[in-house]
Amino acid sequence: MSQHAPRLARLLSRPMSAAIVVALFVAAMSGSVIGLVAWKAATARTSELAQRSVAIENLAHSLAEQASHAIQSVDVALSNIVDARPLQAPDPGRAQRRLSDIVARLPQIRAIAVFDAEGNTGVSSLADAALAGDALASNLAYHRDRADPALHIFALRIAGQSGVGLSKRLTNADGGFAGIVVAIINTEQFSTLYQSFQLGKRGNVSILRTDGVVLMQSKPTLSATASPRGDPALHALPAKLTGLHKVVARDGGFRHYGYAKAPRYPIVVAVSQHDDDILQGWRDGLRSDIAVAALLLCCIVLLAALLTSQFRLRMSIERALRERETRYRLLADNIADVVMLLGRDGKFLYVSPSSQAVLGFEPRRLLGQSCFDLVQPADIRSVRRAAAQLTNPAETRTALFRTLRADRSEAWVEVNFKLAASIDADADADEIVAVLRDVTERHKMEEELKALNFRLAELATTDGLTELANRRTMDGFLRLHFAAQDQLSLMLLDVDHFKRFNDKFGHQAGDACLKRIAKVLAEATPATGLAARYGGEEFAVILPGVGEQDAVEIAETVRRNIAALEIAGASDDRSPVTVSIGIAGKSAAMRMEEDIVLAADLALYQAKRSGRNRSVAVSMQAEEDSAIVPLNRLASAG
Ligand code: GH3
Ligand code: MG
Ligand code: MG
Repeated sequence: MSQHAPRLARLLSRPMSAAIVVALFVAAMSGSVIGLVAWKAATARTSELAQRSVAIENLAHSLAEQASHAIQSVDVALSNIVDARPLQAPDPGRAQRRLSDIVARLPQIRAIAVFDAEGNTGVSSLADAALAGDALASNLAYHRDRADPALHIFALRIAGQSGVGLSKRLTNADGGFAGIVVAIINTEQFSTLYQSFQLGKRGNVSILRTDGVVLMQSKPTLSATASPRGDPALHALPAKLTGLHKVVARDGGFRHYGYAKAPRYPIVVAVSQHDDDILQGWRDGLRSDIAVAALLLCCIVLLAALLTSQFRLRMSIERALRERETRYRLLADNIADVVMLLGRDGKFLYVSPSSQAVLGFEPRRLLGQSCFDLVQPADIRSVRRAAAQLTNPAETRTALFRTLRADRSEAWVEVNFKLAASIDADADADEIVAVLRDVTERHKMEEELKALNFRLAELATTDGLTELANRRTMDGFLRLHFAAQDQLSLMLLDVDHFKRFNDKFGHQAGDACLKRIAKVLAEATPATGLAARYGGEEFAVILPGVGEQDAVEIAETVRRNIAALEIAGASDDRSPVTVSIGIAGKSAAMRMEEDIVLAADLALYQAKRSGRNRSVAVSMQAEEDSAIVPLNRLASAG
């Protein structure tokens, strides 16, 4: 069963299946309506037929009673006539009047006539009330042969009309056959009564003799007086003479007969009604039921159409939602970054499965935890600050921090977070969508690149051997400060007899010597100044805001400190390495920075010429002849 459930759910989720469901619904509803109508029709039909059968039988009984009464009163009247012996009456006129009185008193009698044994009319209530020859002859014969004084009932025709006659035997004083007295019944009265019973156009009421002879019928067309076999059902009179009988009519339908034997007389009243007439009312009811059912079916079909369109709409919406959900899931599940949904309190509401691969944590483990728990203490302040700045849903904030993976290794992660409207429409607090990416490698590379850039910048601005500023840096610094400062001094420093030093101790020793001298120079240079390698074994110190005299003092300190290094020189007496320094202060005559360099170089040249290991300032060599400056010095200064 449990295996079938998902299959059923899958089946129901298909658009075609929705149509099938609706079709089944329509079929079930239509079936119910049609079934209900059919059941109601069948029940009503059976009940109608049953009720009608009972009514027909009851009617037959009542009519048999009524016919019996009607005949009985005629019987009594005829008995009185028999007793009065009308044929022997002394006053035939009186006897005639008596008959007329009886006819007038009993409306069911049309005429009464008395015949003698030869069939001659003795007395009659009406002049034309003579019996036709055949009927009279058979009647006379009937009574002649029977001494029975009982009433004889028979069918007859008078002037082409069917009728019923009642006769009694007249006797002589010796009991011999004297004739008959005949009463002709007014059948119209019966017909009028019987036609009032609404038996339908094929309904009929018949009065038969128990031997099967039809005496009278309410419908003259069916009257079988002339031909008693006109109605096959009447011909087949049931043996019981009382009860219900159903026969197939000539038109293929059914005819229901109710029979009742009249008390006292050998006659049976048969009431018949055709199925079609009985079921007329039922058919009308059925017709209105069918109309209501058709209306209901129309409503069901309309409802089904509405349901189908609603089903289709719902299914297409569901499909679209499912596809969107699948797409988002696919993204969240397969993205290399960790997608997270946080509450405004920073607690994880959703964490994508990639957290396992990125941080080593199962998403389940993080749910409910605060995101700040992931941040290493050193970075917590910056992360909290970034989170606090998150007020505008249009903005995205980024935080870079260290975190510990599940295996306790440290990782650099970058989190982009943004305010997002809550899924829960009632909740006013916004949620935060965050995307976390492991940037450990990138961070490492950035750090390396930073160091490299720093080194490159250093290499571009400093001298590799001495770590002092290089010539380019020096030129830029001088240009900047020469233009900006009113007071500025420049020292140019050259190592004495360095070529010899190199020659004697080697180039590497020379380099070491240059480095030590550079260190002294750097230490002596104030923070506002700049010490640089000018080229080869020559150095420069730029002193912004320092006058020439103060610069001389600095130069002297430098010179003494270098000598104090006591680096063994190349001379035979092994006197230490010394330097010569030329100093120039900015003067009004100097228009460009090259002018001060030239001036300092001249002073340096002067220091060399004066014997080396000394400082010479421009102001100090003013009295000396500058004309002796060799051209090659000028060129190197330029
Ligand atoms: P003076 O006292 O007149 O300045 O004599 P000097 O020998 O120092 O003069 P010169 O300009 O003829 O020689 C400079 C020497 O400095 C030449 C070169 O071998 C040496 N030199 C220049 N740059 C370097 C360097 O980077 N390392 C070493 N070891 N020697 C250098
Ligand atoms: Mg030199
Ligand atoms: Mg030198």
